[in-house]
Amino acid sequence: MHVLIVGGGLGGLGLAQCLRKQGISFEVFERDEDAQSRFQGWAIGIHTIIEKLQSSFPSDMATLKDATDHLQPLDLPAQMGLYFPGRPGRMGVEDTPEHPIVRSERHRLREWLSTNIPIQWGKRVVSIDHNDAGVQVSFEDGTTASGDILVGADGINSGVREHILQKPAKDVLKLVPLAAIVGEVTLEGDAFVRQLELGHSAYVYASPDLGFWNFNGLHHVLPGGRSGKHYWMLMQPDATVESPDHWLQSATQEQKHEHVMKLIANMPPRFRELFEATPASGIKKEAHVWRDLELDTQGGLPASRVMLVGDAAHAMTPFRGEGGYHSFIDAMNLCQTLVSLKEGDKYKDVSVVKPAVDEYNKEMLQRGGDAVRSSRNENSAKRTSDTKTKFTTANQMVRSLPEVPIVLDKVIKA
Ligand SMILES: Cc1cc2nc3c(=O)[nH]c(=O)nc-3n(C[C@H](O)[C@H](O)[C@H](O)COP(=O)(O)OP(=O)(O)OC[C@H]3O[C@@H](n4cnc5c(N)ncnc54)[C@H](O)[C@@H]3O)c2cc1C
Repeated sequence: MHVLIVGGGLGGLGLAQCLRKQGISFEVFERDEDAQSRFQGWAIGIHTIIEKLQSSFPSDMATLKDATDHLQPLDLPAQMGLYFPGRPGRMGVEDTPEHPIVRSERHRLREWLSTNIPIQWGKRVVSIDHNDAGVQVSFEDGTTASGDILVGADGINSGVREHILQKPAKDVLKLVPLAAIVGEVTLEGDAFVRQLELGHSAYVYASPDLGFWNFNGLHHVLPGGRSGKHYWMLMQPDATVESPDHWLQSATQEQKHEHVMKLIANMPPRFRELFEATPASGIKKEAHVWRDLELDTQGGLPASRVMLVGDAAHAMTPFRGEGGYHSFIDAMNLCQTLVSLKEGDKYKDVSVVKPAVDEYNKEMLQRGGDAVRSSRNENSAKRTSDTKTKFTTANQMVRSLPEVPIVLDKVIKA
C-alpha cells in the first residue's frame, strides 16, 4: 500500500510519522520551497495526547518537550493565565506531572515532526484524479505521483477538499466576524520578566467594558534566557472585516498602532505594557480575516480513496488552541484505519476501503465540528463575564493560579 500525503504541516507530518512507525510506504508533498520559506506561526499548546503521540511515532525522535518547548532555556512550566471579570486574582492552567502541557514553538515543532521524513519540497498539487483502483496527483512543476490512498493535509484552503466536494473553499468556509490586529515585540530584562509573571506561555485579560478581546503570548525565549519574542492579537467584533473597503485592508502600521493605543487606554497599566512596548514597525502589515469550517457529519465528506486530516476538514479559530491538537488526533486515527486496510491487502478492494474511511470520517467530523463550534464561541463577552461558567483550557479545568515572582538567575538552566 502506498499513501500520498499532500501537505507537510502538523497533520501531514504527524500522519507520516505514524505510517513510518507502522512500516507503511508514503510520500509527503509540500508546496513550500523549503522549511524556512514560510513563517510557521508562534507557539501551540499540546496536551492530553503527548504520551499517545510519542508512542505512535518512531523511537528515533527526541521527546516533544526537549525538541520544541518554547520556554527553553528557562526551567518554567508551560502556563496560561486568565484574568477574567468578577474572578479575583489569576486563573489558568499549567504543565504538571498529572496534566502535562508542552507549548511548542512552531518552527521547532515542524522540524521535530520532519525527523527522518523525506519531504518533497516545492511540490504544489494542482490536480487530482482518483477512481476505484487508485489515485494520482499532478504538480505545478509538471510531474505526477500515483498511489493507493491520497490524504489531504493541505490546510484550511485545501485543494484536496475542493476535489472531494467539488466546491471551492469560499462556498464552505465561514467568516468569523472579528477584526484582528497582530503585533510582535522582543522584550528583555524586567519587562520580559513581567510578561512571564502574567503567564509563562500566554495570558488573556478580559473585561466587558473594553469592547475587544486580546491574546498575549510568548513566541519563544531567546538564547541565554534573558529576553523573549512576544506576540499579541487584538480583536474587535466586526462583520464587515472582509469588505474590500474595510479600513484594515489598507491601513498602515502606524494607523493600526494608533488605533490599538486608543483602545487599550483604559486597561490596567500592566496589561497595557506589551502593547505599549510594541513599535508601529512591530504591527503585522497584512489584514487578518479568520474563517472556520464545519462539514456535515452525515455525508458531508464522501468516502473514497481520498481523505482529509486537520484544518482541511475542520478549520477553527485559534482561540481555544485546539486545531493542531485535533490534526494530530486525526493523524493517529487515520493511521489505524490504514493499518487495518493494509492487513490482508484489503486496501485493494474499494468496497472495503469506503466503509473504513466512512467510519474514520464520521468520528473526525463529529469531534472536529464540536471543536469548531466551541472555538467560535470561546471569546464571547457573555461567556467570560458569567462567573458561574466553568472553563477548561488544554483539557484542564481552569483553576486559581496565584502569580509567583520570577528571578531569571534562578530559572535559567545551566
Ligand atoms: C494564530 C494561530 C494560533 C494557533 N494556535 C494553536 C494552538 O495553540 N494549539 C493548536 O492545537 N492549534 C493552534 N492553531 C491551529 C493550528 O495551527 C492548525 O490547526 C494546524 O496547523 C492544522 O494543521 P494542518 O496540517 O491541517 O494544516 P497546516 O498546518 O496549515 O499545513 C498545511 C500544509 O499544506 C501545505 N499545502 C497547502 N496546499 C498545498 C498544495 N496544493 N500542495 C502541497 N502542499 C500544500 C501548506 O504549505 C502547509 O504546509 C493555531 C492557528 C493559528 C492561525
